Amino acid sequence: MAKEKNVFESVVSHCKEYGFVFPSSEIYDGLGAVYDYGNYGSELKKNIKEYWWRSMVYMHENIVGIDSAIFMHPKIWKASGHIDGFSDPMIDNKDSKKRYRADQLIEDKIARYEKDGKTNKAAELQQGLDDALVDNHLDKLKSLIEEHEIVCPISGTRNWTDVRQFNLMYSTQMGSVADDANEIYLRPETAQGIFVNFLNVQKSGRMKVPFGIAQIGKAFRNEIVARQFIMRMREFEQMEMQFFVRPGTEMQWYRYWKESRLKWHLALGTSPDKYRFHDHVKLAHYANAAVDIEFQFPFGFKEVEGIHSRTDFDLKQHQEFSGKKLHYFDPELGPDGKAIGNYIPYVIETSIGVDRMFLLTMINAYCEEEVINGDQKDIRTVLKLHPALAPVKVAILPLVKKDGLPEIARKLMNNLKMDYVCQYDEKDAIGKRYRRQDAIGTPFCITVDYDTLQDQSVTIRYRDSMKQERIAIDSIASLIAKEVSLNRLLTE
Ligand code: ATP
Repeated sequence: MAKEKNVFESVVSHCKEYGFVFPSSEIYDGLGAVYDYGNYGSELKKNIKEYWWRSMVYMHENIVGIDSAIFMHPKIWKASGHIDGFSDPMIDNKDSKKRYRADQLIEDKIARYEKDGKTNKAAELQQGLDDALVDNHLDKLKSLIEEHEIVCPISGTRNWTDVRQFNLMYSTQMGSVADDANEIYLRPETAQGIFVNFLNVQKSGRMKVPFGIAQIGKAFRNEIVARQFIMRMREFEQMEMQFFVRPGTEMQWYRYWKESRLKWHLALGTSPDKYRFHDHVKLAHYANAAVDIEFQFPFGFKEVEGIHSRTDFDLKQHQEFSGKKLHYFDPELGPDGKAIGNYIPYVIETSIGVDRMFLLTMINAYCEEEVINGDQKDIRTVLKLHPALAPVKVAILPLVKKDGLPEIARKLMNNLKMDYVCQYDEKDAIGKRYRRQDAIGTPFCITVDYDTLQDQSVTIRYRDSMKQERIAIDSIASLIAKEVSLNRLLTE
């Protein structure tokens, strides 16, 4: 088994070697914190998105999807608070010329205190950090760095600049005349595209509160320090859903979505020990409750998804900045027997990063197993992905390249390939071909052999148990359909 501390490195190199994730622009030495998904990675990513979309949009009659543009009116980001407040505190070391997030330097120091058993020191520094972040107090961050003698990991010195705010939004120009009026932003979250379409969707879909709008799409953040592979990227993808509710009912929906989203994660078969909730104690000014779903990555528990009760902040802001009324008329009768009438709905948001979910899935699936091969011991690398997420569902392998076996295998492949991603492979010994499929997580290998010529049956080999069985060719499609079904995942 790969040692816990090496799992991350093994997954990163596996992703590259087997065509899951490549550094972007690699032949030009890459581009910081930007990645491309390869032949298998793009399939796995698509399947993760499909699982989310179906669970949110198809399984809830009161949730619909949209696909809003990445470019939006610049006033949207003023209204949402991103122009003034979407920034991280940065600090430079004058000797190494390296730039850091001041809060992350402090967090790393807290982790070191904890590791060294200095729990009081850790708690004191944590308290200082929380206070400084809530008050957005840059000088306080700098003095914490000085007081706790935090050094630059590269130069080892304490020759720091002041802490400054760094806005994470990318801006560009729309139109051919470059002046401020034309400055627009690449969205740092997909949520605002949902808020500004709230009335369009409500009216065109005749939606009744409570209802949700879901969206999957790219987001861009000029992260000061990007680290841990696809964990923190500058271009990434989000799956967000805003659920519009009657004011006063938001806590009940917040609890519903908190549980429901954890169930979504666990339905993939991941051990519940690997997940935990992290309730936010200090809340953003617009939120009245917030929780992160954290996964135990090899480098510690980290956020994969956030569930936020955002009050009516966003819709109110857009109403004010656009001058357009964003009210909902609730026809239901209140306790006084009269229609509840007009209000701005409250919002519960669920927000998950596709790329973090991808990394989680790879880390969770990656296994190095000892197997006995005759009188020899061997190590096989296998991705134990849920069959519904696996990039290739079935490999079709003629035992030999002659005697009519490839023809039968090809025919089988042609029957299946419109419905499932299949792979035909006739090169190398069968054991080697099985290993190749294990490494990309293919749940089923079908081998066509000499008996097939006689009895129209094939050998099916299961990835995780490596068990082999004879089954009739005619029953393959239904077996695969059952095993890879998202419906089964969502309803069982
Ligand atoms: P973090 O604290 O890790 O920066 P965040 O609280 O800023 O995350 P949100 O703004 O709540 O994150 O975004 C929702 C989700 O989007 C996160 O839970 C994460 O899965 C994903 N996400 C956010 N930033 C990035 C990034 N730079 N790269 C990849 N995924 C990201």
